[in-house]
Amino acid sequence: MSFFSSVLKTDENTEQNCASWMDSPAWKRLLFLASKRAFPHSCAVVINEDLHMHAALAIVRVLLCENGSGDDECRACAAWSGERHPDLAYGGAPSKPPSIDDCREIIDAMAYRPVVSSRRVAVIFSADTMMLPAANSLLKLAEEPPEYVHMLFLLSDEKLFLPTLRSRSWTVSLPSPRSGTGIAPPQTEEEWIRWIEKNAKSEVDELVLLLAPWISYEVERGAYDKAASLERLRLLILTKRLSRTMVLDLIVLALKEGIVFEHSFGDLW
Ligand SMILES: [Zn+2]
Repeated sequence: MSFFSSVLKTDENTEQNCASWMDSPAWKRLLFLASKRAFPHSCAVVINEDLHMHAALAIVRVLLCENGSGDDECRACAAWSGERHPDLAYGGAPSKPPSIDDCREIIDAMAYRPVVSSRRVAVIFSADTMMLPAANSLLKLAEEPPEYVHMLFLLSDEKLFLPTLRSRSWTVSLPSPRSGTGIAPPQTEEEWIRWIEKNAKSEVDELVLLLAPWISYEVERGAYDKAASLERLRLLILTKRLSRTMVLDLIVLALKEGIVFEHSFGDLW
């Protein structure tokens, strides 16, 4: 099992969210820099709050690993105990920003040399909702960290990140379902007519690809039932060897006419 799947596999919802941000060039670049010992000393990652812990762990595992893999037999990898590591300190928790006392503990913790790894990491959660005195207390560490220290800020809203911290950090925004990766299916009669005309000559594979952004769209707006129906439709098209015309008909039936196709499949086949 790769470290991604072992670190990130916790629940279904998170797994669904991963596809968009884990595939993004920004994320791949972050991990690449972490693996090559070229990671910035102060880095802010903007991503859905649900994913803060997952994203942090994935980066820190690579950062602390002696070989830059994040999942091997090295001393640093062997020192993990769940989400804890001797060279890792957390400030706050997902959705709970660190208090000024938490920040002081972080500063103290970062003053010690690494225990098993060659570096130490401070993960600061909800950096966009920290109280001003707490955020200010971290300025000096963010500006002049010891050479072995990395500070990783997790936040959901870049606009709320204190400018003084932002100016000291390399900020990376990762895509997520909430940032709008989905596309709405056609809604009106006219939109459907245009869609059918445009796709009348599409191959079945192409039609299947069109369904994915529609599924994302339904997930984004919380219409999980619709998303699940679309996903079943997608699987059905993938597994049955249907003609292009049948696939087009099926999509229109299911979406435009709103037919609950679990019930109609029996009639169709
Ligand atoms: Zn390792």
